[in-house]
Amino acid sequence: MHCPFCNADETKVIDSRLVAEGGQVRRRRECLSCKERFTTYEMPELLMPRVIKQDETREPFDEEKLRAGLLRALEKRPVSIERIEGAISQIQHQLRATGEREVTSRMVGELVMEHLRELDEVAYVRFASVYRSFQDLSEFRAELDRLEQNLPESSRD
Ligand SMILES: [Zn+2]
Repeated sequence: MHCPFCNADETKVIDSRLVAEGGQVRRRRECLSCKERFTTYEMPELLMPRVIKQDETREPFDEEKLRAGLLRALEKRPVSIERIEGAISQIQHQLRATGEREVTSRMVGELVMEHLRELDEVAYVRFASVYRSFQDLSEFRAELDRLEQNLPESSRD
């Protein structure tokens, strides 16, 4: 790493320790030319992959958009905000865990549906009906039929 004071190439680490509960490494460095000392922090890079939309354009992953989509589907449903936030972190974790720099919007949508299905079946159907409207209508119908048969009387709108 270049010295921030004189821009020399050679600096040495004189101290190294874990900080932020082990989440970061703090290093004290000294420049071999000007002898100035400075500190660097090292932490894992947790970048979200970019999203490839259906028209092939790319956009940054947007957590707010994900949250808005989930909240819309879960409007007036008996699901706590903690569980919704939990699903949001899990979805982001799953996307990072792919190790891909870009993922398709379809993959994001499928993950959202997977989680909604666990959280609340009515919300799942709401989301799926919008998301899957022109993708696979017959599959969606089959899913609706399955739900209608399984839902207790009181959950039907
Ligand atoms: Zn220097």
